[in-house]
Amino acid sequence: MYRIRFHGRGGQGIKTASRILGSAFFNEGFEVQDAPVYGAERRGAPMFAYVRAARAPIQERGIITRPDLVIIADESLVPVPAANVLQGVTDRSVLLINSAESPATWKERLKRIGTIVTLPVSAEITDRAELPYIGVMCAGAAACLTGVIRCAALEDAIRTELGAHGEAVVTQNLKQAMAAYDAMQAQAGLVIEGGAMAATDYADPEWVELQFEAARIAAPDVFAPGTSVQVKTGVWRSMRPVIDYELCHRCAWVCSTFCPDSAIHVRADGAPEIDYDHCKGCLICATVCPPHAIRVVPERDAQAEETEGAKA
Ligand code: SF4
Ligand code: SF4
Repeated sequence: MYRIRFHGRGGQGIKTASRILGSAFFNEGFEVQDAPVYGAERRGAPMFAYVRAARAPIQERGIITRPDLVIIADESLVPVPAANVLQGVTDRSVLLINSAESPATWKERLKRIGTIVTLPVSAEITDRAELPYIGVMCAGAAACLTGVIRCAALEDAIRTELGAHGEAVVTQNLKQAMAAYDAMQAQAGLVIEGGAMAATDYADPEWVELQFEAARIAAPDVFAPGTSVQVKTGVWRSMRPVIDYELCHRCAWVCSTFCPDSAIHVRADGAPEIDYDHCKGCLICATVCPPHAIRVVPERDAQAEETEGAKA
């Protein structure tokens, strides 16, 4: 059975990618399961989707914890603990990373001796949540890496899954998917099917065992909002809102009220201030600000500016 996991961000077409790959397997006569798993809401948030494909009925259920192939559509997810892209990866797993960096660099960085393949899709793109063809390209590359999906089966799957969007969309996606498929030709068949798993093969998920404590200590004690302050949802952000204080009218309540995460505080002088540890980058504040005092900057550029500023 092939066990394949896609990791990406909300908005990158990862759910569709898993459906395309599942349909392509189906076209080749496989039994298939595919399902997306979302965390919290909105574009940019880490999510994953998985595909199982086998020549016999699939009895396994649930999240794939021992993947044969992991596709990382967004390399910025690798260091994000919540994305957990390396969960269950072993030396026999293949990692396909959308990155302009070489497999050797990634091997060194991840300290892995398994197989890493890179697909440089997004080097020139700034808003990662809007990579237009990343999902379909990952599906095309993955199809080739399995070695059991022909171009015709992939094309039919893309037509099935995207046909409702019209011929122009299908044509563009086909072009990108086939380019990614061709780019992987040298590694066709690299992914090896895993064997059947028995219940005795089950490995505990990577959870944290909490010590049992008396109810007096361990019972929930939530009296106010903000108890999730330790969850730095700012890592989800692909675009950053930046307040231009020259243009800001200090109307105060508009942006801070509309921010769904209470990530804009009003300072004592009446000026708004964004808490970037918890701003998810939904950009509602930029939309509602009456004088357009909040500009939108690609997160990558903003971080580069910060690094430069710190050096200066
Ligand atoms: S809504 Fe715009 S003008 Fe009003 S406080 Fe926020 S940034 Fe300033
Ligand atoms: S982009 Fe603006 S509205 Fe959205 S979470 Fe960040 S500060 Fe709040």
